[in-house]
Amino acid sequence: MDENNLNRIRDVGTISYRALLNAKALVKPGAKLLDIASAAEKFLLDSGYTCAFPLNLSVNSEAAHYSPAVADEKVFGDKDIVKVDFGAAKDGILGDCAVTVDLSGENGKLVEASEQALADAIATVKAGVKVSEIGKEIANAIESRGFKPIENLGGHGVGEHDLHSKIFIPNFDNGDDTELEEGEVIAIEPFATSGKKGLVTDSDVCEIYGFAGPVQVRNPDARKVLDEIMNKYSSEPFAVRWLSNVIPEKFKLYVAVKELWRSGALTPYPMLIGLGGGNVSQAEAELLVTRDGCEVLTK
Ligand code: MN
Ligand code: MN
Repeated sequence: MDENNLNRIRDVGTISYRALLNAKALVKPGAKLLDIASAAEKFLLDSGYTCAFPLNLSVNSEAAHYSPAVADEKVFGDKDIVKVDFGAAKDGILGDCAVTVDLSGENGKLVEASEQALADAIATVKAGVKVSEIGKEIANAIESRGFKPIENLGGHGVGEHDLHSKIFIPNFDNGDDTELEEGEVIAIEPFATSGKKGLVTDSDVCEIYGFAGPVQVRNPDARKVLDEIMNKYSSEPFAVRWLSNVIPEKFKLYVAVKELWRSGALTPYPMLIGLGGGNVSQAEAELLVTRDGCEVLTK
């Protein structure tokens, strides 16, 4: 990879991590999720970047992909365990990183499990390592603390305008002998759960969508929303609430978005929820694979 490209990737990684820490600092009992998301996303826009995806604030057994709704009144409770997942974008370069905030202080071991899994995975990464070996390290760190790794979530390659490119990095030993390559940009994201099953499933809550392709729609509201999406959010996922400027009335906006989704214009990213109950923790970093190890980009 040429030096100029490398510097752009490092720059987006650095701002992503700063944005993540800023958001993390705002996660407190009684704080409104919508205020935190608005502040975090504004920080990136004011800094000359866009969002690789809307701020994710997923609570307790929610594993990922909750982002505040239009006029969301939800606040954090004092027992919540909160996954904060965020990243910046610039000219197709994407950041992706996450931390867990344990508001009760009662889930320290569970938070430690995903953090240690990430640290062990990072220590294993280098060119030529099999992705299943990384998965094995992740599962060991989590299981040795009495929890389960979430097996149907995992790390991924990060390409230009492509947050989940090619390679999949499992959170357990899945036998995949695909090897990491020097110069590859990847995200590793162990999820640990105290629930009975190490699996997540789609919920019927969906606040995040991506543009899939243009369609013909009759509903004028849907047409206006689609124009806005094609103008502003055609490459990276967006939150429904980002479209409130086009259709201020909440109900009408969701109807329009649903129509666009049904007609194939949008890819939904529904909130993911643990199948076996319990709480979920997550840690995530973006890395550059090198010959002898890796460079953490989101630091
Ligand atoms: Mn990721
Ligand atoms: Mn992420």
